[in-house]
Amino acid sequence: MDDRIKFDVVVIGGGPAGMISAGRAGELGAKVVLLEKNSKLGRKLLITGNGRCNLTQAEFNVREMIEKFGPNGKFLFSSLSKFGVKETLDFFNSRGLDTKVERGDRVFPASDNAKDVLDVLVKYLSENHVKVLCDTRVIDIKKDGNRITCLITNKGEIVANSYILCTGGKSFPGTGSTGDGFRWAVDLGHNVTELKPALTPLSISEDWVKSLQGLTLKNVRVNVLLNGEKKESIFGEMLFTHFGVSGPIILTISKNVGLLMKKGNVTLSLDLKPALDWTKLDNRLQRDFLKYQNRFFRNSLDELLPQKLIPVIVRLSGIDPEKQVNSITREERHRLVNILKSLDMTVTGLLGFEHSLITSGGVNIKEIDPKTMRSKLIENLFFAGEIIDVDGPTGGYNLQICWSTGYIAGENAAFSAINEK
Ligand SMILES: Cc1cc2nc3c(=O)[nH]c(=O)nc-3n(C[C@H](O)[C@H](O)[C@H](O)COP(=O)(O)OP(=O)(O)OC[C@H]3O[C@@H](n4cnc5c(N)ncnc54)[C@H](O)[C@@H]3O)c2cc1C
Repeated sequence: MDDRIKFDVVVIGGGPAGMISAGRAGELGAKVVLLEKNSKLGRKLLITGNGRCNLTQAEFNVREMIEKFGPNGKFLFSSLSKFGVKETLDFFNSRGLDTKVERGDRVFPASDNAKDVLDVLVKYLSENHVKVLCDTRVIDIKKDGNRITCLITNKGEIVANSYILCTGGKSFPGTGSTGDGFRWAVDLGHNVTELKPALTPLSISEDWVKSLQGLTLKNVRVNVLLNGEKKESIFGEMLFTHFGVSGPIILTISKNVGLLMKKGNVTLSLDLKPALDWTKLDNRLQRDFLKYQNRFFRNSLDELLPQKLIPVIVRLSGIDPEKQVNSITREERHRLVNILKSLDMTVTGLLGFEHSLITSGGVNIKEIDPKTMRSKLIENLFFAGEIIDVDGPTGGYNLQICWSTGYIAGENAAFSAINEK
């Protein structure tokens, strides 16, 4: 790369926010370069939604949507009003990506393949003549007064009129999101609020959990208990892992679990059969036991539970696995019902940035103009995506932040750069 090539807009970070902002700036006629330190764009995007990419949430009411982002959600009002869920879907659908809406209004590509989302973005970049420089790591940002003057990269200096910072958070650092942007933001005079892992799997002390690694449970209820007292309850899908539990409902409760752990012992009480109350489940077991009265106990739960779970439940029930079903006592059966309705797991901690889906905290929203994504401190700096101090629950909300803020940042960085020429 030649030293000091001059561009209208430089975008730092080739994640979803960086790609859409670079494409939009190029679409408006700006001469744009996108810098990515990895050898390829969108490394994290490819692993979103377990490789299926939950690209947005089918919530078309801006006010309702904003509620989901908590106190900082208001910051997104302008960008969601201008480029919200409808515009995002139009953007992808009109470029050949068919989408489908799943339970919980989660939107996925019809192909179930995150690569198809990335392909749309890569094509958007090339159609709008964005110069993409991979293997290009930004090392430092130089400023003079309230303007950035140039970037120092491992391949030389880059100069532009406008700069968009889209380096993401600190979660899953192996994908490239190592939090470099936070440091520069501080160097440039911005405040960065406390950075914490969010949407985080939980570690569990009970040994049996490990043997369930990989098991997904749908339609279960998890009750969160603090020192034995119920504090929260959530219904949906969860997953067992080698260290504990994860999956949509666990990630959703993780923030509260973290807060509760500061106050005492937190237990998750798993209701494996939330559709049946205690008595109905007991009746159901009596019917099953009558049907399979000559079987061993360990072979009698096939219709009730996933195979992987049966040995664990059998062990925890304390009933002899080789006992014939017709000789199981009422007391033993009741013990089994109790376990199926309340399988307790002791939370030992939240996993850190290595495993958290997102980073909460970031560049203080008071220092960014929500209409343009322009820094209020540095006149030719813009922000987009996870680097900003706003985050949402699971369900496509976090990528929507990238699409909305990225599009608006790209647009305004281009206007600003072109006007200066
Ligand atoms: C496992 C997992 C699953 C997820 N699933 C979903 C989902 O289904 N739906 C959803 O809405 N959200 C999901 N998320 C969250 C979502 O991926 C993020 O919110 C989103 O990727 C943030 O985009 P971004 O562009 O701001 O940053 P990133 O995607 O983190 O991209 C930042 C880019 O900047 C580059 N970079 C960093 N520093 C430098 C540097 N110094 N020089 C050059 N380049 C640099 C990085 O290499 C990286 O490519 C998931 C996250 C994870 C970890």
